[in-house]
Amino acid sequence: MSAATKLPYYDASKVREKASGRWLEIFAYLAYEEFGEAIQKPKKHHTCPIHGTRNKSGKGDGFKFFKDVVDSGGGVCNTCGPFPDGFRLLQEVKGWDFRTTLAHVAEFVGVKSEQEEREAKKSSRSSTSKPAPTQPQSTTASQSGGVVPISPQVNQVEPSAHDVSKFAPTPERMEEIKKLQEQIAKRQAQASAEAQEQIDRIWRESIPLNNGIPGPLYKYLQKRAVLLRLEVLLEGDNIRFHRELPYYDEDDDGKVIVVGKFPAMIAAIRDLKGNIITLHRTYLTPRGAKANVECPRKMMAVPDDKTVTGCAIQLGGFPTDGVIGVAEGYETAASPLRVYGIPTWSCVSASILEQFEPPKGVHTVIGWEDKDRSLRGELAMQALKVNLEEKGIRFIRMPIRRKIPTGAKSIDWNDVLVKEGIIGMPAYNQLMKVIQGG
Ligand SMILES: [Zn+2]
Repeated sequence: MSAATKLPYYDASKVREKASGRWLEIFAYLAYEEFGEAIQKPKKHHTCPIHGTRNKSGKGDGFKFFKDVVDSGGGVCNTCGPFPDGFRLLQEVKGWDFRTTLAHVAEFVGVKSEQEEREAKKSSRSSTSKPAPTQPQSTTASQSGGVVPISPQVNQVEPSAHDVSKFAPTPERMEEIKKLQEQIAKRQAQASAEAQEQIDRIWRESIPLNNGIPGPLYKYLQKRAVLLRLEVLLEGDNIRFHRELPYYDEDDDGKVIVVGKFPAMIAAIRDLKGNIITLHRTYLTPRGAKANVECPRKMMAVPDDKTVTGCAIQLGGFPTDGVIGVAEGYETAASPLRVYGIPTWSCVSASILEQFEPPKGVHTVIGWEDKDRSLRGELAMQALKVNLEEKGIRFIRMPIRRKIPTGAKSIDWNDVLVKEGIIGMPAYNQLMKVIQGG
């Protein structure tokens, strides 16, 4: 038997739950060599522990923990991309597989393996009256400020997984890291309350469009060729206009600064009950182009007690005949909506799209796929297809059969509509035949 097959089983969700709130400690304990620098200053960019210092410009590029690193353990490198949680980051820097990573984190946060749980149950049944035998050689007890040493049992099954003694911080250092972690958690709770306040305020300040569309937004939608079927597009108060929305950025020290104020399209990202979970902003110029800022399209933060999973910009409102379209971007979703009049929701990003939850009564979902050089759009639709078909929902994939333009990273259905007009979209009759044909 190989070492890997002897590795004990852990309940991943239990470990994840226990690890939430402690990821800086976990990194300090398991990967101090790799993450030491980032742990000391979690708000700044650092040399990426995964790909090293090989960046062209020599500055600005690099690795940064997510703002909620204490809870998620996630981070992002400008070169390597995002790592949604601490397990993924540890796998990457340590070269461990998921089970090994899980075992090490479980050890640290004090989650027992399934075998240990079973044995504990057995022994408590067989020796209910006897006090637990004292074993002086036992090292599984918690020591030095909650730091659980890797037990000899795990060392047996995974002898060379990692050498803790070599890079582990001192107990004093560990105490400092715990304090820093508490500070970050406090800031995070504050940031979440602020995010909620901002979402409510910006939506309140924004103008509903039922009495006409203000100039900059009208021009923008015109440029995107999605102005027809306005009554369908405006169904359900999902799009509003903000006259002068501040654009924030961070300076090199991580301090938030206002870059300027711009007209903006505000889109509500709602759950299936219609609650606004967060907002998506598109910063514009008065002439309806995208504003000249680093990131003219931005989603606002999601408050801690909410999730965007299963949420969307519900363009066209709720379907009445069991057929709905779905796409990543707002403009991409608005394109088939304009052409066919079928409600088509925008999930904003590929990761939210994968988890798209159609409303009740939907039997057919049409996926308007982005074509990316990275294949991200295609992979997201494949994942969505699997998810939907498991629920017995039919999925119709609409890939773009055109080349990605030279110099571009991707092409989407709105690019097709803008460039080729309605003729570039699948013919209405053909689409209906596919929908009805099954
Ligand atoms: Zn990197």
